[in-house]
Amino acid sequence: MRKAVVIGAGPVGCLAAQTLADLGYAVEVYEKRPEYGGRPAASVGRTINLSVSPRGLRALAAVGADKEVVDSAVAMDRRVVHQLQASVETRYGDPSWCNYSVGRNDLNKTLYRQARYHPGIRFEFGASCHAIDFERRRVVLDRSDGRRLTAGYDLLIGADGTHSSVRSAMAQTGLTTVWRTPTGSGYTELTLRPADTLELQRSAIHVWPRGGFFLVGLPNQDETFRCTLVLPDVGEPTFTELADPVRRHAVMAENFPDVYAGLGDLDRAIEGRRPAKIWTVRADRLVYRSSVALVGDAAHTIAPFLGQGINLGFEDCLMLGRALAAAPDDPKTALFEYAADRVVNGDAAAQLSMLNFDSLAGASAASSNRRTVRDRVVPIDSFMVTAVNFSQLTYGEVLNQLDAHPVETPLELINIRSGT
Ligand SMILES: Cc1cc2nc3c(=O)[nH]c(=O)nc-3n(C[C@H](O)[C@H](O)[C@H](O)COP(=O)(O)OP(=O)(O)OC[C@H]3O[C@@H](n4cnc5c(N)ncnc54)[C@H](O)[C@@H]3O)c2cc1C
Repeated sequence: MRKAVVIGAGPVGCLAAQTLADLGYAVEVYEKRPEYGGRPAASVGRTINLSVSPRGLRALAAVGADKEVVDSAVAMDRRVVHQLQASVETRYGDPSWCNYSVGRNDLNKTLYRQARYHPGIRFEFGASCHAIDFERRRVVLDRSDGRRLTAGYDLLIGADGTHSSVRSAMAQTGLTTVWRTPTGSGYTELTLRPADTLELQRSAIHVWPRGGFFLVGLPNQDETFRCTLVLPDVGEPTFTELADPVRRHAVMAENFPDVYAGLGDLDRAIEGRRPAKIWTVRADRLVYRSSVALVGDAAHTIAPFLGQGINLGFEDCLMLGRALAAAPDDPKTALFEYAADRVVNGDAAAQLSMLNFDSLAGASAASSNRRTVRDRVVPIDSFMVTAVNFSQLTYGEVLNQLDAHPVETPLELINIRSGT
């Protein structure tokens, strides 16, 4: 029986483990964090919500994990854009289309719970990847109790996120080249408890574009919203400016008057943790021969401006599983096919995400000139958002079609739905 070692038990690592175990691999998953509350412990304050789209659900369905994720999520069939003077509610073009808002930790818990009961998968927590001997196919791990462990593998999966140790080891030995590009923005998370005076549509993603910066809120199952405040590194306002408590409240009250009262954890959120910078990370080679593959943020970290990182990572697992299933006796060819697809589509997803920044930040004329239609729901008119989330087009195909369908053009529903 072939043995796979997965580094990282985040959402993508858990899905990769299931995908490989379903193909008959004996899978060992090593996670550097301890187990906490039925999932890998999260870092303090990093409790973002993710928008999982039908693209991501398709990948989850391949291992039967889609329904449980949907059950733990809130369906979002519309977007509400809150300008200073008015709000615009837009619906995705087809009534059946929606994305699902789910806390990253809940998503991780669901996928971990499912994987841990798989007879072909064994998890070990508190074990951090330290070094890799790519020729002898051995990974050295540091355990939290100070002991060192060596694990052999036929296939090593790097699912250890944006600071991937597997990717670093590949880069250090010349097996890949990595680019880290700052997006010029940073973010922090806030919880919004809508005050009595403010009614927020629950089945929606909410965006407060302010021209160069924005707040975005995704619904939780408990009536609150998990928000991400994205500010530029240079310009106005910055997180440096928000470090001053007086300026902080003035800036937030002035720019987000409708939700300011509901942002109860503002001081704690800003003072208690450093805002994170948003980077794009690209590696030109995602595999090594027949024995190593990168998936998820370890393979490609994209800006969160189109809500696609986890969907791209889940799709990596689907494509890896398909490639290995198509060439069961030739993993080298399988990994080559996987990498050829994922480099192109990862690059395209990264570009599409950056292209959507203006639509979130409200820098484009189209989004800032709209009038109030709170009582009238209009279809979302962005080809890019709809094609990425609800069509079967690859990220690369969506990018290629943008010339024909600029970001804000009305979409042709029939073409999108029949896309392959
Ligand atoms: C603000 C923000 C908003 C986002 N919103 C969305 C969204 O709406 N929709 C969407 O699709 N995506 C979104 N994303 C992207 C999404 O969060 C990531 O793509 C996703 O979490 C990546 O999952 P992963 O499993 O690849 O990596 P991670 O979630 O980072 O998991 C990696 C795991 O590997 C472990 N690990 C790390 N190093 C080691 C080591 N050396 N040894 C062992 N284990 C290790 C870590 O502890 C962790 O458990 C957003 C990202 C951000 C920052």
